[in-house]
This record gives sequence, structure tokens and C-alpha cells, in this order.
Amino acid sequence: MSAQIIDGKAVAQDAIAKVQSGTRALSGTHGVTPGLAVVLVGEDPASQVYVASKSRMAKECGFHSVQHTLPAETTQDELLALIESLNADPKIHGILVQLPLPGGLDERTTIGAIDPAKDVDGLHDISIGRLASGQMEKTLVPCTPKGCMVLLDSVYPEGISGFDAVVVGRSNLVGRPVAALLQHANATVTIAHSRTRNLPELCQRADILVAAIGRPVFIKGDWVKPGATVIDVGINRIPAPERGEGKTRLVGDVEFAAAKDRAAAITPVPGGVGPMTIAMLMANTLSAAERSVG
Ligand code: NDP
Repeated sequence: MSAQIIDGKAVAQDAIAKVQSGTRALSGTHGVTPGLAVVLVGEDPASQVYVASKSRMAKECGFHSVQHTLPAETTQDELLALIESLNADPKIHGILVQLPLPGGLDERTTIGAIDPAKDVDGLHDISIGRLASGQMEKTLVPCTPKGCMVLLDSVYPEGISGFDAVVVGRSNLVGRPVAALLQHANATVTIAHSRTRNLPELCQRADILVAAIGRPVFIKGDWVKPGATVIDVGINRIPAPERGEGKTRLVGDVEFAAAKDRAAAITPVPGGVGPMTIAMLMANTLSAAERSVG
């Protein structure tokens, strides 16, 4: 058996098309254009690439898109003042502060200053609390976990009620919110982490296996239950001497080649969860704009 390879790019494109039509509808009915402000502090090259692609996608969605680029020496007070002004700006419905922040700036203080109604990354303590207590209609869900659920919807349009799900990883960014969403979808969820015993056995019980560890090909193919769906969130860059000296390539947390012979469906890396994250950021910005008009 060879698994269905879940095409994250295609699912993300569908999601973007829905955002574009939702944006036109909102503009037609209420004269409101969703506004996304992306804040970048410092010159981290990877962050610059992410921010540029978020701003570009916001424009493609028809949003009002603004980018604030601040020097690495920005003080906490200056950053908080910018967030305050964006909170007060009626043209801005979503605020994203690109992480990580340079040393000297506190992430929780910074995220905590964002109006939860504009917290399109879903990382504010209030957003986390609403997600944990199942108040989905009031919160904005973190983008990568939300993307994982949309990919699962594409495999199981009838839902995942009663399925056994194992999430490997418990970060605030991915593992914990994915687990909360799976539970909300009525799966029976186990969260594994670095202290978990018998991880291979635990994984072998999973109808849905979500890997969010950050270790290249850590989850072996024979840990996958035959017929399971595997969502590989990991993005790891490893040396690829076969492509030439000094070359690298991206791999997930799962041993893809072996896992796809056991799984019913599996996300590739790249081209699986990755494209969903930015699409869900756009979906969250549209939701925030829709809620702002009731
Ligand atoms: P973190 O480093 O914050 O968390 C990793 C988690 O994996 C921790 O909970 C840790 O456990 C667990 N872990 C580490 N080693 C093991 C082990 N040997 N056995 C079991 N569990 C282990 O990473 P993130 O959650 O931020 O990211 C995870 C991966 O997802 C990374 O590769 C990242 O690049 C990728 N990612 C991809 C995104 C996308 O858009 N596709 C977006 C965000 C992240 P413990 O808590 O015990 O330390």
C-alpha cells in the first residue's frame, strides 16, 4: 500500500481562494477591507523572508497590508507603543509580530500587548485560554495547528470523532494547540514529549499521528500504524551532499519513504503543512475583520 500524499499547496490555494472571495464579500456588504500589520524587529534573514511572503500574500488576498520594520535596538517601550497604535487603528484587523524577537525584548510581554481581537497568530494568553476552554467562535486559532486540521478535513470530510490521535511535541506554538483542536474535534488525544516512554508503541496506536518535534526523520516508518494519517509539521534542514558540495535539503520529523508504505495518507515536507501556515494567517485576518463588523 502506498499512502495518499496530502497536497498542502493545493489545499492552501483553496483556502486562499476562499479568503479572496470572503474579502470581496466583506468589502461589498460592509465596505471593510481586512487589514494586516506585520511587525519585524531586527534583521534575522529567515524572519525577513517570512515577513515578506506574509505581506505579499496579504496583498494577493486583497487586504490592506502594512509592514513595520524596526531596528534590532528597538526598546520594549517603543515596540509596545507601536502595538498600541495598531490596536487603536480601525483599518488594522490583524497584528502579527514576527518571532523570535531580538534579545532584550520579551515575547510574552509583546504578544500580551496585542488586542486579542487582532491576535491573528493566536498566541495571546487570552487566545490560548479560549482555545483550551473550547470557545472557538471567540478566538483566533494559531495558524500552523489550524492548518493541520484543515489538512485532516481534506482526508476525513466526515470528521475524526472517536479516532485515536497522538501528538508528538508539546510546544505552545504547535503541539499543545494541535492537541486542543484534535480534542475539540472529538478525537481521543495523547500528547507525547521528550520524557515519554515507549514512544514507538504509543505512535503505533495512532489513527492520526502528528509530529511536531524538530528532529529530522526521528519517527520511523514502522512506528506508523497501518492505515494511519500522518501530519508531519517538522521542518529540518539537513546536508545533501548528493546534490553537490555544501548543498542542503528539507526533511520532516517522519521517515517519509518508509512511513508512506504503511500510512493511508501523509503530508510531505516540503509541500505539506508549510504552505498551510500562511494561508491560515490570511483566514484569521479575514475572520478578525468579519468579527469587527459583527
Ligand atoms: P519546539 O522545539 O518548541 O518543541 C519541540 C517539542 O518536541 C517539545 O515539546 C519536545 O519535548 C519534543 N521533543 C523533542 N525531542 C523529543 C524526543 N526525542 N521525543 C519526543 N518528543 C521530543 O518546536 P516547535 O513545536 O516550535 O516546532 C516543531 C517543528 O515544527 C520544528 O521542526 C519547526 O521547524 C516546525 N514548525 C513548522 C511550522 C510550519 O509552518 N510547518 C511552523 C512551526 C514549527 P519537551 O517539551 O519535553 O522538550
